[in-house]
Amino acid sequence: MTDGERPNLLFIMSDDHAAHAISAYGSRINQTPHLDRIAANGMRFDAAFCTNSICSPSRASILTGTYNHVNGVTTLDTTLDNTLWTFPQALQEAGYVTGLIGKWHLGHGPGADPAGFDFWRVLPGQGHYTNPVMLEEGGTVVERAGYVTDLITEDCIDFIDEHGDRPFALFCHHKAAHRHWEPAARHFTAFDDTDIPEPETFWDDLEGRAEVIKAVKMHMMDLDPITDLKALVPEGLTREEEIEWRYQRYIKDYLRVVAAMDEGIGRLLDKLEADGLSDNTIVVYTSDQGFFLGDHGWFDKRLMYEESLAMPLLIQYPAQVKAGSTCDDIVVNVDFGPTLLDLMGVEIPDDVQGRSFAPLLDGERPEDWPESMYYRYWMHRDGEHNTPAHYGVRTKTHKLICYYNDPLDQLGANGPTDPIEWELFDLVNDPLELRNVIEDPGYATVRGELEAELAWLQAEVGDEPYPGAEL
Ligand code: CA
Repeated sequence: MTDGERPNLLFIMSDDHAAHAISAYGSRINQTPHLDRIAANGMRFDAAFCTNSICSPSRASILTGTYNHVNGVTTLDTTLDNTLWTFPQALQEAGYVTGLIGKWHLGHGPGADPAGFDFWRVLPGQGHYTNPVMLEEGGTVVERAGYVTDLITEDCIDFIDEHGDRPFALFCHHKAAHRHWEPAARHFTAFDDTDIPEPETFWDDLEGRAEVIKAVKMHMMDLDPITDLKALVPEGLTREEEIEWRYQRYIKDYLRVVAAMDEGIGRLLDKLEADGLSDNTIVVYTSDQGFFLGDHGWFDKRLMYEESLAMPLLIQYPAQVKAGSTCDDIVVNVDFGPTLLDLMGVEIPDDVQGRSFAPLLDGERPEDWPESMYYRYWMHRDGEHNTPAHYGVRTKTHKLICYYNDPLDQLGANGPTDPIEWELFDLVNDPLELRNVIEDPGYATVRGELEAELAWLQAEVGDEPYPGAEL
């Protein structure tokens, strides 16, 4: 490709934004008109999954195109070795001007600072919603006045102003919608006059699920009234009323921070249009993982249940992607980098584990496209959420999860080791994952097939089964 033919990339990634809080995905609780523009102009992926549902590991998988046992970022306490190959660095080497603005969350300082970017300005760790400090090359501290989502948006607009005349790859990484969900002042009263509907599984009693799932500390009652809900619990509520009150406090702030982000994304899309760049720019919207929005009574992520496993993924690229199209083939976060390199005419190294799904964007499904995906969460009992270490397989119709329940000396994982437990869900007849059928004799054949698929996937990606974890 010549410079004139090379597409630009605007890669927008948010934090903890679940697909079911995007109206293009049929949200029952909010409207996201600008994200919907990307869906209307491009393709919506309905089966995009992360391979480990927490921030740093998913980000590492996206950048390196590898699973966490390969790139080493297994938990929130691990950092990304910045000498590893990443796809932004490949774009830079291919002549793109590259920029990263916003959340990094893969470590700081020599060995861990962002690499492969001509310009970067990132939040330290999680950063702050208001008046955030940001870091640049060499550890330079930049003090910013304003609301983080707006500042990231404005920096991205400045980057396009400065570099829009040559092929660019810009990574806009929002802090939103991460805990503690602090809205912009203009959204303080949004949703005040309405009750947000509770999800269908809000009162799930978790009967029949693994014991370690029943012990997870991600319930409405585990939210901190002061830091998360910014209020004192009203006196005189029954337990049920308090749970409902907590949900409203939580979800409204969540949706308020999403609203600011959606506005910012609209400004970026307007900027591309105003500068005549829309036709030749690939616009990606995703989030590092999904999130529980009261589903099963929970907030947060980490588990292999659908709301946490699923990533929103919208891709607009008029030259190649049909407007208003959808795709229900399984794609995973390790595939993102190779796909974009493929679209941008840059070579994909052999040791990248992900596979380009550019043909799916063309509406062409390769005959051997995967029918399943592999997931692994390493951070056993992190000390706060009490989520168990597990791995599993999801096909288009079923999900098998092995809670092997061992910290395995992973940074940030803790004991004790719990007995191994299994869950099996029939996603066709039980899409809400309410009935664990692992012991159901009617599922013996499916169970055997999924167990074989899991073993095959582990061998395929080079991961090791947990000793003694056989059904
Ligand atoms: Ca996240």
